[in-house]
Amino acid sequence: MADFSPVKLGITGGVGSGKSFFCRYLKEKGLQVVSADELARNAVLPGSLGFKKIVAYFGEAILSPDGALDRKKLRGIITRDLQKKEKLEQIVHPEVFLQMEREFDQARKRHDAAIAVEVPLLFETGLESLFDYVATVTVDTDVRVQRIMARDHITREEALALMRIQMPEAEKIQKSDFIINNNGSPAETQVLMDRFYEDFLSLLKNQSKILEAD
Ligand code: ADP
Repeated sequence: MADFSPVKLGITGGVGSGKSFFCRYLKEKGLQVVSADELARNAVLPGSLGFKKIVAYFGEAILSPDGALDRKKLRGIITRDLQKKEKLEQIVHPEVFLQMEREFDQARKRHDAAIAVEVPLLFETGLESLFDYVATVTVDTDVRVQRIMARDHITREEALALMRIQMPEAEKIQKSDFIINNNGSPAETQVLMDRFYEDFLSLLKNQSKILEAD
């Protein structure tokens, strides 16, 4: 039998598309779902290598009184200075990548059939090659703007600004193996998520048959 390897599913979609909604559904189904944002937060916890590198580059002024990174201050700096934004990414991305590999390794040891990772900027950061399949959650622009405004208590212009810095939906859809259309009500999307999950399960079954036959 060939070496066991869990199927790796990347989950992405623009801001406010419904990634969290979809991930919650998958967790309820029993799938292991990891958040890249959470890995990124772990990667810069006080004492970590990422934290040390950030303080070395940005200086201690970047710390809040409790000794952790002042995320708001850091966000302010990198939105004004592209070079500093790139530097921060150069520090954080390899750490996230390492942690993701660790998650894959643990899933392999547990003999999990699959593992999913929610990566908001999956295509923008060129991470699609890490995954066997990518599922994109998508919503029409006007609905998305309304949902972001309601969730984050921001103006229409601020919501549009958030969306503008991401890759257009159409491009993401073209690059994806699965599309979850979240335009409808939660109940309507649930039907589509059920359909996705059925397809995904049969894909996992076929994959394990191929492995057994090896
Ligand atoms: P993301 O994680 O992609 O940014 P969320 O899952 O947080 O998006 O969804 C954005 C907002 O829209 C949230 O407030 C969520 O509760 C709401 N939402 C998600 N899906 C639906 C839906 N089908 N109908 C109505 N509201 C939704």
